[in-house]
Amino acid sequence: MKKIALFLLAVTALMAATPPKPKLVLAIVIDQFRYDYLTRFRAEYTAGFNRLLTRGAVFNDARYVHFPTVTAVGHSTFLTGATPSISGIVGNDWYDREEQKHVTSVSDSGTKLLGDTGDGSSPHRLLVDTIGDELKMSDHNKSHVVGISLKDRAAILPAGHSADAAYWFDPKVGNFVSSTYYFADLPGWVKDFNSAHPADKFAGVKWLSHTMPQSGKPLYDAIDASPFGNELVEAFAERALQAEQLGKHDATDVLTVSFSSNDYVGHAHGPYSDEEHEVTVRTDKVLERLFQAVESSVGLDNVLVVLTGDHGVAPSAEEDKLNHMPGGRLPGDTVKNAVNAALVSKYGDGNWVKGSWDLSIYLDRDLIESKHLDAAEVRRTAARAAFGVQHVFRVYTYDQMLAGAISLDDVGRRVTNGFNERRSPDLTFLPEPYWMFGSSTTTHGTTFSYDNHVPVIFMGSGIRPGRYSESIIVNDIAPTLASILDVEAPSGSVGRILSEMFQ
Ligand SMILES: [Zn+2]
Repeated sequence: MKKIALFLLAVTALMAATPPKPKLVLAIVIDQFRYDYLTRFRAEYTAGFNRLLTRGAVFNDARYVHFPTVTAVGHSTFLTGATPSISGIVGNDWYDREEQKHVTSVSDSGTKLLGDTGDGSSPHRLLVDTIGDELKMSDHNKSHVVGISLKDRAAILPAGHSADAAYWFDPKVGNFVSSTYYFADLPGWVKDFNSAHPADKFAGVKWLSHTMPQSGKPLYDAIDASPFGNELVEAFAERALQAEQLGKHDATDVLTVSFSSNDYVGHAHGPYSDEEHEVTVRTDKVLERLFQAVESSVGLDNVLVVLTGDHGVAPSAEEDKLNHMPGGRLPGDTVKNAVNAALVSKYGDGNWVKGSWDLSIYLDRDLIESKHLDAAEVRRTAARAAFGVQHVFRVYTYDQMLAGAISLDDVGRRVTNGFNERRSPDLTFLPEPYWMFGSSTTTHGTTFSYDNHVPVIFMGSGIRPGRYSESIIVNDIAPTLASILDVEAPSGSVGRILSEMFQ
């Protein structure tokens, strides 16, 4: 019996064929999208999510295996398959020890914004390449690759280094902008799109108990944390599809679309709020509009859709309290202040903390050196001070991480996957589950399940629809796409090919 079963298994495996190469990869990220948004609101999905959930391969235990679980890191993982230790994207922000300044994952003073004034952005801090980059290398640039989002990092990082363009929304001007990294001037179709002032149509529009401001900067600022940010991004993606003839070239094209409003709404209201419910159900409609546009221009049979979230989110402190759950909110700079106070009292006056973003602390290494102190000892002192803060769960020093001397339980492994020797902070800390630092209603960034569990869905020809319960990692997306597209896996890719969904 066992032999027969094994034989059948082998035959089934042989029969699983790699899906045909699509004309277009439509790679979608929803910013701050917990896996349970698929199940909690399932009965209300009649459009895009319904299509994905009935016709797609739905992985219900997909995890991020890195820390911190924030936008830049999730978006860089999506189509590179790399952990931050390898990709170099260790956060949304960090202190660059060589440039001696605060940088973001995509800030690039060597470029200029197009469509507004100021410095532009680029993928130059991303150390690895993406699926789009591999495609372009393999077919000598025949593939067209475009990234779109409300946020610069969410447009730039999935698209990659050799992308034809990345576009994002700039609330200062209320339009889509780009960077001189891609071209010297915005394409005509982008200027046309912007000249119609598409954000203005949301002036005074109501959603739930909220009313959008009447005009100008207040209106554009309010777009992010409303369902209308996603509508704008979808409309822009439709235009890009037509103008760039995506899916109509003699090669596979890639369109990456990241919907950011879910993140802004989530931060402001929490995952169990009416607002989160509303933006999620509206995302169902927005996705279907995008699918319809792709259907009429390329035909969905020729398109491989892949969707994920870049991270989840914790319940708000108020939601926790209502449910007799642990959790609460501490001022954002509690740990930073405790660390600085301890270092002042032990080593003398000074601004010992050079920068602190999310759950990271960068110390002033020049100050440490000028006082002839042992940097590792200073970091140990800082770590003790950080751990002295109530509801701090773990503290890791740079030295512990470098030596690999941290407990490799589930938390430790994820923190290790986030450690890049050149860019990581002097101290990394985590709050206890459900606790958070900062003033927003809720946030994300930890290694815990509510932050690392997201949907992964593939839909297209040759993909076997169904629910897949085996544990996978989001890093599996990139090598899976590489296999389907017959290109080399991106340079930092650490995942496996999800061949169980091949028909
Ligand atoms: Zn966020």
